[in-house]
Amino acid sequence: AREALAQAQKMEAVGRLTGGVAHDFNNLLTVIRSSVDLLRMPGLSDEKRARYIDAIAETADRATLLTTQLLAFTRRQPLRPELFDVAARIRGLEHIISTTIGSTIKMEVDVADDIGWVEADPTQFDTAILNMVINARDAMPGGGELKIRARNADGVPDVRSHAPAKGAFLAVSVEDDGIGMDAETLKRIFEPFFTTKEINKGTGLGLSQVYGFAKQSGGEIDAASHLGKGTTFTLYLPRSSKQGAASSSAESQSPIAEP
Ligand code: ADP
Repeated sequence: AREALAQAQKMEAVGRLTGGVAHDFNNLLTVIRSSVDLLRMPGLSDEKRARYIDAIAETADRATLLTTQLLAFTRRQPLRPELFDVAARIRGLEHIISTTIGSTIKMEVDVADDIGWVEADPTQFDTAILNMVINARDAMPGGGELKIRARNADGVPDVRSHAPAKGAFLAVSVEDDGIGMDAETLKRIFEPFFTTKEINKGTGLGLSQVYGFAKQSGGEIDAASHLGKGTTFTLYLPRSSKQGAASSSAESQSPIAEP
């Protein structure tokens, strides 16, 4: 009966999601469509033309994120773990991160070049970092500072009251000095579909992806937040000792394609 209930709840959630996503997606298509109509108007100034083109690009990116998150969630894409250099991977993301946060948010990346290697799905790693970055950006609507750090950790914190895992981990944190969260919100953030964002801005699936990725990679995700002060997410991944053997494989390090 418990399984049936879980199944029913899942079906309900999927139903809600499909409806919600279809609605969000249609809204985005409407924005693109009307921007195209505006672009076709004769005698358009260069400034307006540039603005409509930006709107189309930005809206298309949002639509892509929406479907990517949905696919990642519903398909539960199989992870393809590879050995990769965490510092190189983060460097490869810097450009897309700075485009994502815009010019009102300052970015600081504090990652030592020799921080180490992990064995995890590199594409999912990128997605997880970007999901946390998007949340940080949304938490700092008036600007602020984003810090991305990586350090070594002996074990993971006792986050959800299970025994702490021991061993060598790499801890990658994404920190913002934005709006923060109250304790009630913090408790629910990893639930699929939980969002406090307005329609079109949030799917509630970003942190579910981060959570799933962390767990399936043998790691952990931790969140610390203070209302009005900011939030720090820390992703723990088991450190690999196999790094030497793979350092010649440049292929596994290619960062995700830029938009
Ligand atoms: P979404 O971003 O689509 O809402 P997420 O699963 O990524 O979905 O996040 C769930 C919720 O967690 C957000 O709606 C927000 O309320 C809260 N949250 C996540 N990250 C932050 C952050 N850095 N600062 C404040 N609130 C956050």
